[in-house]
Amino acid sequence: MVAIRFGTHEIDLTDGETVLDALLREGIAVPYSCRSGFCQTCLMCASQGKPPREAMQGLRDTWKASNYFLACRCKPVMDLEVRLTGDLPAPVRARVQSVQPLSQDILEIGLATDERLHYHPGQFINVESPGGLTRSYSLASVPGEDDGLLLQVRRLPGGRVSGWIHETLKPGDTLHIQGPLGDCFYCEGQPVQPLLLIGTGSGLAPLSGIARDALRQGHKGPIHLFHGSRSRDGLYLQDCLKRLAARHPQFQYTPCLSGQDIPPGCARGRVHEVAQARFPCLSGWRVFLCGHPDMVQQARMMAFMAGAAINDIYLDPFNVALT
Ligand SMILES: Cc1cc2nc3c(=O)[nH]c(=O)nc-3n(C[C@H](O)[C@H](O)[C@H](O)COP(=O)(O)OP(=O)(O)OC[C@H]3O[C@@H](n4cnc5c(N)ncnc54)[C@H](O)[C@@H]3O)c2cc1C
Repeated sequence: MVAIRFGTHEIDLTDGETVLDALLREGIAVPYSCRSGFCQTCLMCASQGKPPREAMQGLRDTWKASNYFLACRCKPVMDLEVRLTGDLPAPVRARVQSVQPLSQDILEIGLATDERLHYHPGQFINVESPGGLTRSYSLASVPGEDDGLLLQVRRLPGGRVSGWIHETLKPGDTLHIQGPLGDCFYCEGQPVQPLLLIGTGSGLAPLSGIARDALRQGHKGPIHLFHGSRSRDGLYLQDCLKRLAARHPQFQYTPCLSGQDIPPGCARGRVHEVAQARFPCLSGWRVFLCGHPDMVQQARMMAFMAGAAINDIYLDPFNVALT
């Protein structure tokens, strides 16, 4: 007999019973609608244990990799701890290991957690500041290549949490984080598919992690990374990305500047327009868009109109919190 845990509830499943039926039998109100695996209203996540493959049919690859499943189709073959996808993982303590400036307004923060965090580069974590504010920061690190978690935080003028991180945080400090969250990451399975990565500002954090992760997992198809900024100083990590391109012929990096002063080696124009001019047809491509929310929305429309399938477009808009 198998059992599921949902919050404080422990439920033994009867033979052939689905997770949804078991939860409803116990009087636990969870969202559902069609009960036949189409509407995806009963989407849940397993924090412990692996849901059966049939419960993941039709879900996008990154959701499968995050252990998402449809409760109405899930007849577990092992014990599972399950939660609603909107429920956040419990906060964990992290220690600051390193603080390194990458440019005038971008700081790289290295964090270590007591228990190893299982994540995909490009996902994000929520960071709690001592003032009780929470902000999201993307994971630029790659498990197995980097020690701990690496964040790249841009200081915004008047920004409360980014200001605190830049001014106060130092090695040895502790803070609370929640995660990993989000589905903007690389999944293996289509190793020759062309990848297009477009980002502005610190949107390079998830994209650099995704590119390195794809290469580490043996991606053979072309990987084109376009990074845009208004000023030269905003094009951080240039040397590192050029070295990566020199080591991996399938990886190409194009820095783009939308301002006036364009040095050799940089493309002129807004980053998604430069990418669009270079690759007008994106049918069969996988596309990752990160950074300024306006750019992400415009580039999403551009990628869709250029033929990329909606399920192959992954987004990480850096929306500003209004609290
Ligand atoms: C999924 C995700 C991933 C992210 N990843 C990264 C990352 O890797 N790196 C990174 O640097 N950032 C990232 N961000 C952005 C980050 O979460 C914060 O939004 C950013 O650091 C600003 O937070 P803050 O507290 O410093 O600024 P806030 O104090 O929230 O202010 C932000 C700016 O908006 C202005 N502002 C504040 N309130 C209002 C208002 N009510 N109306 C209009 N303007 C206002 C402020 O003057 C300031 O300029 C990510 C965001 C998301 C959603």
